[in-house]
Order: sequence, then C-alpha cells, then structure tokens
Amino acid sequence: MLEIKNLHARIAEDGTEILRGVDLTVKPGEVHAIMGPNGSGKSTLSYILAGKEDYEVTEGDILFNGESILEMAPEERASAGVFLAFQYPIEIPGVATMTFLKSAMNAQRKARGEEELSTPEFMRRVKDKAGELQVTMDMLKRPLNVGFSGGEKKRAEILQMALLEPSLCVLDETDSGLDIDALRVVAEGVNKLRSPERSTVVITHYQRLLDHIVPDVVHVLSKGRIVKTGGKELALELEKNGYAEFVGAAA
Ligand code: ADP
Ligand code: MG
Ligand code: MG
Repeated sequence: MLEIKNLHARIAEDGTEILRGVDLTVKPGEVHAIMGPNGSGKSTLSYILAGKEDYEVTEGDILFNGESILEMAPEERASAGVFLAFQYPIEIPGVATMTFLKSAMNAQRKARGEEELSTPEFMRRVKDKAGELQVTMDMLKRPLNVGFSGGEKKRAEILQMALLEPSLCVLDETDSGLDIDALRVVAEGVNKLRSPERSTVVITHYQRLLDHIVPDVVHVLSKGRIVKTGGKELALELEKNGYAEFVGAAA
C-alpha cells in the first residue's frame, strides 16, 4: 500500500534537511503509529505525503500501490485515495462546511470518472456519518473550521475522511487539543474506517490516542529517521520512559 524508501527531504526555502532517510512499509489493513519528540519531522513527513510544495524530496521515493507519487499534485494524490488529516486544519472562510464536503466528494468522483452525487444521496451520506461523529447541522452550515473549537475541527476532519473513504489515512496529531470525550468520538470514527483494504498511519506525540486506536506497529521518529520499530507495547514504553533515549541516540 504505502512504501517509503530512504526518504530525504528538506525545506525548499532554506535547504534545511528535515527527513534523513525514512523507511516505512505499511500493508493493507494495517495501522501504524509514528511517535517521536517535538521537532523530529512528523508533520513534515505528513506534508510530504500530501504533496505540500514547501518541501523538496532530495533522495528516496514514496510508492503508493507500487507507484511513485512524488510527481503527483496534492489533488491527484487525494483522488488516488490518500487522505491527510493535518495537525492544524485550515480554515476556509466563505465556504459552508457542507458545500466544501460536497465539492471534495464530487472532485474525487470526477477524477475517478464517476458521476456526481445527487443532492439527496449526498445529504443522506453526510447525515449518516455526521451523526456518528457528533458534527451538528449548525457546524455543517458554518464555514469550514472558522471558529470551530479544537474538537470540532478534528471531528469535521474525520467526517471528511469518512465520506471520501480513502485507502490510506494519515492522521497528524489528531489528538492534540482534544478532551477525553472528543478523543473517544474521533477514535471511534477512525476505528470504524479500519478495514482489510485500508491502511492508517497515526502520528502522535502522546500514547493516549493509541489506547483508543490500537496500532499494529509503532515507530519512533527522531531527527528525521525511524530509530525504533515495535509492537503496540512500544508506545507504552515511550509513555513511561519518554523520548530521552532516542533524542540522545540520534544526536
Ligand atoms: P514534529 O511534527 O515532529 O514536531 P515538524 O515536522 O513540525 O516536527 O518539524 C521538524 C523540524 O523542521 C522542526 O525543527 C521545525 O521547526 C522545522 N520545520 C518544519 N517545517 C518548516 C518550515 N516550513 N520552515 C521552517 N522550519 C520548518
Ligand atoms: Mg510539533
Ligand atoms: Mg507535528
């Protein structure tokens, strides 16, 4: 599904190298967690997967279903089935959340040569999923993310994900700023999407999200490299001992 090979990347503007040889293979149906200290390059990795242009890949490759996506524009990646939920969801003033969701779904359908959804069918799908994620009709009428609380933004993000049914979901710090109830709602939303065909990469600094979204594999990213890989118990170890060991090791 996803194969990251010796990925090196830097900030386009000033040439600072952030990723220094990341290797990661995620098979269909698997949930991988990427943990690591602040500043280790976790968000950078998610931006590069999304195709954000502020970064330059200098070495290595990213394969999605066996094909390199490095030359693909962000929209192409999205319609190919890659979904990124960002640490800081962007606000879209002037566009109602509902309208945004409909255009996102239809853009994806168009790229795949599928017909546009009828309004009733779209409404049916949105209402169905919005209810599960506690996204209210009021939120759907408001501009996307504008004035949303941290929890509302994350729930809206997962709603988008649920509607687009991506084959690869990447969640960057989806737990940040969430209280325990919002965390549970978001985690349930993500868990509902788990399937043998779909892969998920959960990026998180803290272990607590992984109590709710239980990963098959846990990786530690430190200074732009994966320095340790283990099972779900690795997350508990990190919770107990912190990242000091890895910060030192990669220096
Ligand atoms: P993490 O998500 O693990 O906390 P980031 O990927 O956000 O780490 O950042 C890794 C490092 O790269 C940090 O030192 C950060 O300051 C730097 N960095 C990331 N993106 C940029 C950018 N666009 N401009 C300048 N520095 C950046
Ligand atoms: Mg950070
Ligand atoms: Mg980050």
